[in-house]
Amino acid sequence: MKFDTKVVRAGISPDPTTGSILPPLYQTATYVLEEVGKDKGFDYTRSSNPTRQTLEAQLAAIEGGRHAVCFASGMSAVDSCTKLLSAGGHVVCSDDVYGGVSRLFNKVLARYGLSFTYVDTSNPDKTKEAIRPETRMLWVETPTNPLLKVTDLSAMAAIAKERSLLFCVDSTFATPVFLRPLEFGADIVVHSTTKYLSGHNQLIGGVLITNRQDVFDEMKFIQKSIGAVPSPFDCWLTMLGVKTLHLRMARHNSNAQIVAEFLEAHPKVQRVTYPGLPSHPQHETAKRQMDGFSGMISFELVGGIAAGKTLMNGVKLCALAESLGAVETMITHPATMTHAEVPKEDRLARGLTDGLVRISVGIEDPHDIVADLKRALAEV
Ligand code: PLP
Repeated sequence: MKFDTKVVRAGISPDPTTGSILPPLYQTATYVLEEVGKDKGFDYTRSSNPTRQTLEAQLAAIEGGRHAVCFASGMSAVDSCTKLLSAGGHVVCSDDVYGGVSRLFNKVLARYGLSFTYVDTSNPDKTKEAIRPETRMLWVETPTNPLLKVTDLSAMAAIAKERSLLFCVDSTFATPVFLRPLEFGADIVVHSTTKYLSGHNQLIGGVLITNRQDVFDEMKFIQKSIGAVPSPFDCWLTMLGVKTLHLRMARHNSNAQIVAEFLEAHPKVQRVTYPGLPSHPQHETAKRQMDGFSGMISFELVGGIAAGKTLMNGVKLCALAESLGAVETMITHPATMTHAEVPKEDRLARGLTDGLVRISVGIEDPHDIVADLKRALAEV
C-alpha cells in the first residue's frame, strides 16, 4: 500500500459479523470466558481491547513500525517509555522539549533515581559530550516545542548505536506524513495523539511505536501494569481522525508556509521560526529528512511581551488556547501557558523568551488566518 492508502485503510477491515465498514466500538471493561482458561483473545480491557488493537495496528502501519502501544495521553506514553529504564539511569534530552516533559523528568522521575541532561541535540558534538557511562536513553524531540529546533536523526542514531542507548523520538509536531523516525534508526517513536493524529481537539491520547520485539514486549507489560490506557471510545475517535491525516497535514503545511512568510515580511515582527523558511537555522536538515514542515510557527514581535499579549488578545479567528495540531488555528503564549512551569532562567537560556508567540496553523482558508493576524497586528 502507498502511504496515503495506508492512512485510510491500514489495520482496518470490515466487521466480519455485520459488514460494518468501520470497526465496531468495543466499549467494554471485560469479556466473558467460554470456560476456565479459554478466552477469545481478550480478558480485561486494561490488558487489551479490540478497538485499541485496531488503532495500534493503524498507527504502527503509518509510522512504518511493527508494533504500537496506545496510552491515555501523550504524557503517559512519555512516562511509560521512561519505565524502560532503571534507577541510576541517565537520559540525554533535547533542551527544548514540551514543558510537560521536562516537568515529568525533573520534578517526578528525578525522585526515582533517574537523571537528565538537556542539550541542544541539533548539535551532534554537544550531544556526544553530554553522554556519561550511566546514560541509557537519548530523548529527541523534533521539531521542538516551541522553538521548532530540528535535529538530524541519522546523526543521533549513529551516536545512540555507538553508545548502546535507547533512541526515542517525540515526533508529535511532524507526524508520519512528514517524518518517520524509525527509518532513520530510532528505537521508539512517541506521539501525543491529542494533536495532529486525532486532529480535531476531541480527546487526549498518546502512542509509542517500535520495530523491536523486546521493546514492544516490555512496553505492553508496562501498559498493562500501569494501566494508563485510552478509553475504547477515544481509540475509535482517534482512528477516525487518522483517516484524513494526509489531507489535513498537506493543508496545515501549505497554510503555515503562507502565514510564516506573511509574518516574516511584517514590520512589527522581529523574528519568525518555521522550519520551512530558508532563515530557519536547520532548514537544510529539515528539507533533507522531512517531507514537509508541518503547521507550527513561533515568532516574536518588535514590542516584546506587551506587543505579544496585545496580539494574542486581539485575534478573533485564531483561538487563544493551549494545545496544537487541530483543524482550528490556535495561538499560545508558551511562557504563561504550555511552558509556564519551566523555570524562567531555563526558559531564557534556551531562547524561550516571555515575548514568544506560538501559532498552530489550522486548515481554514489561509487568507482568513492572515487577515485575522494582520488586523490584530495593526492594533499592536
Ligand atoms: N509531546 C509534545 C511534543 C507535546 O507538545 C505534548 C503536549 O503538548 C506532549 C508530548 C504531551 O501530550 P498530552 O498533552 O497528550 O499528554
